[in-house]
Amino acid sequence: MILGIESTAHTLSFGVVENDGRAKPSVSNLFRPEEGGIHPREAADHHSNVAGELLSEVMVKNSISKSDITAIAFSQGPGLGPCLRVGASVARALANSWEVPLIGVNHCVAHIEIGRNQTGCEDPVLLYVSGGNTQVIARRGNKYRVLGETLDIGIGNMLDKFARSQGIPFPGGPEIERLAGNWLSRNTECSLESILLPYGVQGMDLGFSGILTAAIKKTSTHELSEVCWSLQEHSFAACIEVAERAMAHTGKSELLLGGGVACNERLREMASIMCQERGGESYSPNKGYCVDNGTMIAELGRKMLESGSLTTLQDSAVSPGLRTDQTIVTWH
Ligand code: AMP
Ligand code: MG
Repeated sequence: MILGIESTAHTLSFGVVENDGRAKPSVSNLFRPEEGGIHPREAADHHSNVAGELLSEVMVKNSISKSDITAIAFSQGPGLGPCLRVGASVARALANSWEVPLIGVNHCVAHIEIGRNQTGCEDPVLLYVSGGNTQVIARRGNKYRVLGETLDIGIGNMLDKFARSQGIPFPGGPEIERLAGNWLSRNTECSLESILLPYGVQGMDLGFSGILTAAIKKTSTHELSEVCWSLQEHSFAACIEVAERAMAHTGKSELLLGGGVACNERLREMASIMCQERGGESYSPNKGYCVDNGTMIAELGRKMLESGSLTTLQDSAVSPGLRTDQTIVTWH
């Protein structure tokens, strides 16, 4: 088995994948700040405090011992430096003491590979919607290319900030989804005309800081649940539009969702309607594999191990600004 360690931001997670690709559910521990956003140092302290416990848990849950582990994979970037360093340190220590190879993986690419593993799609356009990242990605040649992305904050970060402004604790996305559904169930005839928000598409890129400010303002004139509904409709439609254009430009017929915001049922629905209308197919992994998780790191590690892409100790420094297209794809 390959052991994967995820620590790019608020989540510390361990997961394993069998050498033949069978994935096992991750064990995770989420850092939840008492107030405000994620302070990288505090999140890193949280990760080091729970790392030992989580490691034992993943071993016990999967009934494995160290002799079952053939390699250690870790998130090398992108992410928050202090958080990444905790995961990398644990990975180096384990690889060294268990005498197995070390594999530093690209977190964004791992979202694609676990999605392919779980859903069976082959060559998708990935709509990657998470707290810190919002990107539309597709493979050409030996790289996954970024076709469009947010120019300011990630969509999940926008949802979390809006939620926080309304006293809703982190993570805000699930509660916004609940409130939006509540509004819809009480107002079957509702129209977006009465609560328009800025639509942040610029060419193939996206932006969410404008809609955040506007949505906060709307709470003084509209019910919170109506604002949540409109916020979802506008911001998700923007992502789906860019994803659709990426499918049109690349000629690819599969859309894969990934990232924590891909847990959202309305986003999943919009993705499947768009794909149906253009004769394509939309794929959404189980929620546990949409949010940041150690198993996805293990899965990309497995593919890299098979293709001989290992990481030496000298090259194992974390890379907070690592880009999706900096990773050479050596696997199928
Ligand atoms: P990640 O950064 O990929 O771990 O995902 C975390 C982000 O996903 C946070 O911003 C959450 O608010 C967001 N999220 C989780 N569940 C949902 C949901 N059901 N709807 C919208 N956003 C969600
Ligand atoms: Mg992520």
